[in-house]
Amino acid sequence: MTVPVFRFAPSPNGRLHLGHAYSALLNQKMARAMEGRLLVRMEDIDRERCTPALEQTMLEDLGWIGLQWESPVRRQSEHFGVYSQALEKLIGLDLVYPAFLSRKDIRREIEKIAGETDKWPRDPDGALLYPPSDRQLSQRERDRRMSEGKPFSWRLNMERALQRIALPLNWTETAPETHNVVAQPQDWGDVIVARKDMPTSYHLSVVIDDALQGITHVVRGRDLYHATSVHRVLQHILEIPPPVYLHHTLVLDHDGQKLSKSRKDTSLRDLREQGRTPREISDLVGL
Ligand code: GLU
Repeated sequence: MTVPVFRFAPSPNGRLHLGHAYSALLNQKMARAMEGRLLVRMEDIDRERCTPALEQTMLEDLGWIGLQWESPVRRQSEHFGVYSQALEKLIGLDLVYPAFLSRKDIRREIEKIAGETDKWPRDPDGALLYPPSDRQLSQRERDRRMSEGKPFSWRLNMERALQRIALPLNWTETAPETHNVVAQPQDWGDVIVARKDMPTSYHLSVVIDDALQGITHVVRGRDLYHATSVHRVLQHILEIPPPVYLHHTLVLDHDGQKLSKSRKDTSLRDLREQGRTPREISDLVGL
């Protein structure tokens, strides 16, 4: 039997809070119950916001709450070459295109097409779907803009990707009981898979790393439930076997809002400095 492999994969762009503690400790609890392994991965592709100091603080905080993970910690920033290869494959398959519209341009373009942005479809995170204009540019025009140094992102041509796959995509969600979820990638439109100066995005590197690290169980917050539809598309195109998923409930603050890294009152570091113990942290998150 294969040994289950779990991971906790924070982005070191702020401080860990109680929501992260819950996710990390739940991964550990499940890994132990299944006699599996637990890895930590630093999702630090954003080289401006992620710093070694924040990473160090995160690792100390994870150690303090009692997390025990295997060495070494994988850092995405050390693997841009692998992501580049995947991006090249997507370019070779003609499934991505350079998208030149800034956020402001997107609104303007949509207003031009539809008169207003109110009725334009939005993705599950609430962002306006990317309008079709750049998808229709000629190769010559793309080359011209790129050689002029215009900023752009690589976006997945979702319609073409789904035509290529030509079958419904599913994933296995393991709680409350194991069931199949039908993926809805079309709801996302043309997602960003890489940027001009960075050969990847969250979506691309997460599927590649989960595969390279042999992750069998992805246990993460409910806020990433819908993103799994995009991950299934990329896994299919890149011929990556999917792990099973569990999207857990989020720890909310007193007002029912999602916790954020910028809030101090639930940061593990602050709770520690206030004299809270690791035991109390586990109790606070109900584990
Ligand atoms: N790095 C992501 C975050 O901190 C989590 C990614 C994942 O678990 O798939 O929100």
